Amino acid sequence: MQRFQSYINGEFLDGEARFQSIDPATGDVWADMPEAREADVDNAVNAAERALYEGPWARLTATQRGKLLYKLADLVAANAQKLAELETRDTGKIIRETSAQIAYVADYYRYYAGIADKIEGSYLPIDKPDMDVWLRREPIGVAAMVVPWNSQLFLSAVKIGPALAAGCTMVIKASEDGPAPLLEFARLVHEAGFPAGVVNILTGFGPSCGAALARHPKVAHIAFTGGPETARHIVRNSAENLASTSLELGGKSPFIVFADADLESAANAQVAGIFAATGQSCVAGSRLIVERSVKDTFLSILKHKAEAIRIGAPLDMATEVGPLATKRQQDHVAALVEKSVGSGARLVVGGHRPDGNGYYFPPTILDCDGVASPSLTEEFFGPVLSVVSFETEAEALKLANDTRYGLASGVFTQNLTRAHRLMKGIRAGVVWVNTYRAVSPIAPFGGFGLSGHGREGGIAAALDYTRTKTIWLRTSDDPIPDPFVMR
Ligand code: NAD
Repeated sequence: MQRFQSYINGEFLDGEARFQSIDPATGDVWADMPEAREADVDNAVNAAERALYEGPWARLTATQRGKLLYKLADLVAANAQKLAELETRDTGKIIRETSAQIAYVADYYRYYAGIADKIEGSYLPIDKPDMDVWLRREPIGVAAMVVPWNSQLFLSAVKIGPALAAGCTMVIKASEDGPAPLLEFARLVHEAGFPAGVVNILTGFGPSCGAALARHPKVAHIAFTGGPETARHIVRNSAENLASTSLELGGKSPFIVFADADLESAANAQVAGIFAATGQSCVAGSRLIVERSVKDTFLSILKHKAEAIRIGAPLDMATEVGPLATKRQQDHVAALVEKSVGSGARLVVGGHRPDGNGYYFPPTILDCDGVASPSLTEEFFGPVLSVVSFETEAEALKLANDTRYGLASGVFTQNLTRAHRLMKGIRAGVVWVNTYRAVSPIAPFGGFGLSGHGREGGIAAALDYTRTKTIWLRTSDDPIPDPFVMR
């Protein structure tokens, strides 16, 4: 059985307790993990605080920080295959996806390596003749980062990259479901030569490890990716220290298809948008809103494509859809499909968990036209698409915005003016027009409403890991007059 360690203050440690990780493709235990609780969390945060103020990290120039980040990027690229295999083994995300995604993760580190010495302060044109006033940008402090199981190397890179560029130190909690890739990534941080305590990586369970981290009095900022209910716990705990938060949460993203769209192209985007990562994607285009005149045609193209998907072992390069990450997730998806069918939704394809080992669930499409189905409002985080239809553009927009979430959205149409109206009208942090699921380190990403707040990616994300300090310098040599002498 493979054994993993946590990384605290530059050392690899066994953790306060141990737990076992399960291979979702078989349901068998495959690795032994370190479990951090309050004491490990406290050690890690203290190490991060020492590194922030006392260690060599605080004395590095921004350019030197950037160079370390470039080194880390190169190490991620060189070890992408190994990291991908670990992620696939521990989470069930297929190897095709993990290898492509982790190779791209290196570019996120490169992007933030370049940003490190471009975070500038400013000089203020102050309204007083004998004063010079500047704003310094300093690291915000110790950052806590909590990530879910899916795409942990990616979801942590969009936090670690900007935080390091800004000069912060940090404690990252990998998900207890599939922590292997992030714990292995710690070895690359070490090899890159980051001083002890700058990056600490541990894992453990939400209520013990995650909560201890969120409420730690030395944490200045919490970057969280996960579900809205957990986000509420985090925000409550952040109140302890009045830490700032950035929250990247779930979604129920609309995927709108007009009759004038290239239906074949839209169908490919829809299949990728909902079935990639077995639907365990925050941006999953899980609500298809299709113009009524093409609904039947579009559904038959989708059904055909869904049936042709190769379901199989995640480490097999030919596999297109693998298992869900946990039994809990498989049970949740199966129960929500059942509830939706019970409420009147019609199964177009899939819908039943297969016999055998592993946490598989087939690509599933539910026709929910005219039905108040829970599948239209609740997040599956699984390979299930819910379909409704519309007749007018206004109706399409109303349906798209009929959600408390607001993470992503897709619009497929050849009509330019309509595309512009929709990109303004849709209430979501990302609108993809005639494409879906495109991401880049250069483009900010984040949600509206229950999908959270704060943006990851782009230059502004690095600024979120800074705070300004205002410096006043009096330039006059005249003595300051005694304030109590009347003139
Ligand atoms: P989750 O919220 O249950 O867990 C996420 C992380 O939070 C885990 O590391 C967990 O241990 C930790 N956690 C749990 N309870 C905690 C607590 N009380 N205090 C501190 N930490 C705690 O999410 P999940 O089920 O693992 O992941 C799925 C969710 O993540 C979905 O809702 C999905 O949409 C969302 N997600 C969002 C994005 C995005 O960028 N917006 C990306 C991926 C996933």
